[in-house]
Amino acid sequence: MALTARGARLTRQHRQEQLSIRARFLQELLRLFGLLDPARLDATTEPWLTAMVPLLRQHWQRSAAASAAYLALFLEAETGRPAPEPRLPRFTPERARAAQTSLLVTGPVKIRNLTQAGQPLASAVRVAQSTVAGAAGRHVLDGGRAVLLDPEPLDRSGVRYARVTDPDPCWFCAMMASRGYVYLSEESGGREASDRFAGPGMFKFHDYCGCTLEPTLDPDAPLPEDNARFADLWVTATRGLHTDAARRAFRRALEGRPLPGDPILAAA
Ligand SMILES: [Zn+2]
Repeated sequence: MALTARGARLTRQHRQEQLSIRARFLQELLRLFGLLDPARLDATTEPWLTAMVPLLRQHWQRSAAASAAYLALFLEAETGRPAPEPRLPRFTPERARAAQTSLLVTGPVKIRNLTQAGQPLASAVRVAQSTVAGAAGRHVLDGGRAVLLDPEPLDRSGVRYARVTDPDPCWFCAMMASRGYVYLSEESGGREASDRFAGPGMFKFHDYCGCTLEPTLDPDAPLPEDNARFADLWVTATRGLHTDAARRAFRRALEGRPLPGDPILAAA
């Protein structure tokens, strides 16, 4: 948790605000999905992308602005001193290209691959709608993450981050959050952890992920509430276990069900 009650409240509000920005974006995304005619992908992919990328950029900028406002207020609350105004990152041509590639792969390419594999068109479209939403939502929330991971105005050498999850995170994000304020390198942020975690920067965020970050200047600060809950769960669920066995036990405890290949199933 932040050092101050106000800091902790600001982190909670910030998480909520980022999820609202994504929710509003997804409403628009669903509306624009109608531009993509699954029966005429060749003709309609380009107009769909032309409408989607500016929409994504607009919400990326909203996400960035929300995180900049949060960061300034948070640092002020935590340090008792006025904080410098965070820099707003630019939605660069590289970001636009990366977003466009994601949209293409999770949308039209997905529909084509699924139907070629024999899936009925209507169900392929439903799947693609979900994969596009997952990927595009990640790009939108990356706006805020870019602000929080910018070394300015924080002196990065003294700063650690905790992963702040959405209310229903996947087990991997919960595990990352359970580690508290420990992340200082790209490796410890999950870069090596899984192919599903994409994008530049210190932390990896996967499609559908609603996580954001809380910085701290004090590595001994108490953990945010959810992080503390995940940390307790990690301790109780993985006692005596290591590496993959510990991860499996944590996942089983979090999801409340056995997993395929789980030693508990094999023993039953
Ligand atoms: Zn997540």
